[in-house]
Amino acid sequence: MHANESPWPPVTATNGAAAALNHYPPPQPPELLEALARAWGVTPTQILVGRGSDEGIDLLTRAFCTAGQDSVMVSTPTFGMYAVAARIQGASILDVPLLAARGFALDLPGIRRALDAGSKILWLCSPNNPTGNALAREDIEAVLAAASGRAVVVVDEAYVEFTGETPWTLAVARYPHLITLRTMSKAHGLAGARLGALIAHPDIIGLLRRIVPPYAVAGPTLEAALAALSPASLAVTAERIGQLVRERERLATALSRSTRVSRVFPSDANFLLVQFDDAGAALQKLRDAGVLVRDFRGQSGLGEVLRLTVGTPSQNGLMIRSLT
Ligand code: PMP
Repeated sequence: MHANESPWPPVTATNGAAAALNHYPPPQPPELLEALARAWGVTPTQILVGRGSDEGIDLLTRAFCTAGQDSVMVSTPTFGMYAVAARIQGASILDVPLLAARGFALDLPGIRRALDAGSKILWLCSPNNPTGNALAREDIEAVLAAASGRAVVVVDEAYVEFTGETPWTLAVARYPHLITLRTMSKAHGLAGARLGALIAHPDIIGLLRRIVPPYAVAGPTLEAALAALSPASLAVTAERIGQLVRERERLATALSRSTRVSRVFPSDANFLLVQFDDAGAALQKLRDAGVLVRDFRGQSGLGEVLRLTVGTPSQNGLMIRSLT
């Protein structure tokens, strides 16, 4: 008689987890924090969970940026939500573009200038969406050194499971101003459940817990995430990651032989950025075959490019047949 809930389970669900849906879920569920902490090699006090990593992006922007005063640094082409969250909050955006001629590497002198201009959040995405490349470790280390005591550095690791590299998540214990974002949407196949996490020093987590909505993880999402984090599920996920990485290389090799394709950018993620002679014609070919891919033409100087998500072998076969 504590939270003004209904005393009855939902009309259509009388047993199992669904029968508990008349009760609010636990805020920041301890069982989930523990399972994620085990999976990622951190402690539950270093984790905040929410509705996808999108929610983490929004919370960080609201916590660290004063409207009309502060700025964030982004390195385009990159994930659009960092700028969307900044605009909503009334923070300005300093763009220090990735260096296309150097494989979309970070522009370190440019980032130092953004720090001098007072940027409060430096958004780094590794592997980066939509270019697919992981950022060089030494470059991220240089950014962390330059930002110490001045700004927080966020490394968005939504696609880190596809790299085989050590996640930056493990380094949050060493850097009090490092925040990483992780998600269950990609490698774990739970995009529809909306579960993401932010990993940082417990002081930052404590601050964000004061502004996160009280029940950020819905009951069915909690159930689905715990099931996905069981040892048996994690073993299947590891196999699927291996298969996706092999398929990515097969797709890249096949597409690079196509006369329509001028370039397949190297990828550490579950997608490929592909440059075409005529991306519009390629888009139409794919559409005719019932395949929808993301059109990045003209964004951040990328030119005639499309982003293709790696799918099952048969989905990838369909893309290859349509484009070669
Ligand atoms: N970060 C990056 C780099 C992404 O590409 C995406 C999804 N496209 C997200 C975060 C958001 O993921 P989530 O589903 O966890 O909100």
